[in-house]
Amino acid sequence: MKDAREPQDNFDEKEKNEGLTRRNFLAGAAATASAIAVGASSEAKAASSKASSKGSSGRPKTMLVKNASVLVTMDKTRREIKDGGMYIEDGVIKQVDTSDKLPKTAEMVIDMKGQLVLPGLVNTHQHLYQHLTRVAPACQDGNVWNWLRVLYPMWARMTPDSERLAVQVGLAELALSGCTTVFDQQYVFPNGCKIDDAIGVAQDMGIRFHASRGSMSLGQSKGGLPPDSCVENEKDILSDCQRVIDKYHDLKPGAMTRIVLAPCSPFSVTDDLMIESAKLARQHKCGLHTHLAESLDEERYCLKRYGLRPVAAMEKLGWLGNDVWFAHSVHVNDAEIAQYAKTGSGVAHCPSSNMRLASGMAPIKKMRDAGVKVGLGVDGSSSNDCSHMLAEARMAMLLARTLLSENEGGPPEAKKEWISARDCLEMATLGGAAILGRDDIGSLEPGKRADFFAVDTNQRSFAGGSMVDPVAALVFCAPQNASYTVIDGRVIVKDGQITTLDLPIAIEKLNKASRLVMNV
Ligand SMILES: [Zn+2]
Repeated sequence: MKDAREPQDNFDEKEKNEGLTRRNFLAGAAATASAIAVGASSEAKAASSKASSKGSSGRPKTMLVKNASVLVTMDKTRREIKDGGMYIEDGVIKQVDTSDKLPKTAEMVIDMKGQLVLPGLVNTHQHLYQHLTRVAPACQDGNVWNWLRVLYPMWARMTPDSERLAVQVGLAELALSGCTTVFDQQYVFPNGCKIDDAIGVAQDMGIRFHASRGSMSLGQSKGGLPPDSCVENEKDILSDCQRVIDKYHDLKPGAMTRIVLAPCSPFSVTDDLMIESAKLARQHKCGLHTHLAESLDEERYCLKRYGLRPVAAMEKLGWLGNDVWFAHSVHVNDAEIAQYAKTGSGVAHCPSSNMRLASGMAPIKKMRDAGVKVGLGVDGSSSNDCSHMLAEARMAMLLARTLLSENEGGPPEAKKEWISARDCLEMATLGGAAILGRDDIGSLEPGKRADFFAVDTNQRSFAGGSMVDPVAALVFCAPQNASYTVIDGRVIVKDGQITTLDLPIAIEKLNKASRLVMNV
């Protein structure tokens, strides 16, 4: 059965040749996930061995999480419960309390002694396919537009097989960092690539996934930045958007898959595509997303093309509202922040990418104070070569403090002017859930889906700090991996290992695919 655990770069062919179905492979992984936990009953094992890889497979009927050193709820009063735990049924949290007040047993019992337990982290901006062009030598040192000009032709070499490998490794990396919900913006579809490939991988791995049918329609010949070979025509884009909405968009509570429409950026799409995408999204209650106010190049471009700054251009196109969120928003002024707050438009803050590409420092403290919804995003793996959500929370805290250093007279005395470690965890959980329009995740409370992760506090990096404030240590100290990640009541990471993918083999295959795409 060794081959059965291999992530396959050509699934259909492999199934035919080996008489081994992809479903069996994944059901086996799901069974492993279920059986490894302490107290997993034989019924649980039998049930999971029959289960398919999708939906609730591998999930015990009841789960008891107990003895957490601290359970961070992110509920309305931001309770942090010492010796905390949860009782879960069918992937939904039924009770959150101190361990002594919870039921004594369940089909699956996870003893979290020495662990911090938090709501699953929500990644609000990512381009998973960019795992194929990580650390590309020709654009290690350059701003956004220089970086894009190097990468567009490489991305044009991507295939469905290489895309799937990038998504597998990217999602594994995120799950290992405590991330349970991922918004992924794919906007190049060369060589038969479809968004279905990414969705299939996420479903098989058990990751809650908001997939964007992204797009680019304005090539160089029409005044855009991307080469014509990387863009599609509007008619094809919109009909594929309709297709994936019909096929995948699930508005039910607890949905594992939703569709977002996400034209790439002001300098790569036409006005018509922006307007029509918004119409279609609103017809089907899909989210709307694009990059905005990321760089000064983009600001100059918008001033030239529209005679307007980026936010005003979005307003003109009908792109402000509660269903819209923008990646970056580094270069926004106070009036634009007020406009975001007034319209309910959200921001995916991506501090590592903004530093990597020298884009600047987004004024997230001002945004939060004004009531703007702010979540965190790791951005693509080619502009933040570290897809680690806890690392991103740490970067958000540090970058906000760097911005404080620019205050006249130096950083302020008042604590309320500072972004705290807990503020960053809030952005990574509740903030992200609000941006994605979800009230069923983001906190650990009765009625919410059982999306959470645990980190062992007895690690070298926390020594001398975790005993005084383990929650803050999670952000202040070096980012650590999750020991457990549970999504919709299903164990995806156990003892620091991903259970729904053979990660070492996936990495080996991705490395080969990356060489082909980067042509190195
Ligand atoms: Zn991006």
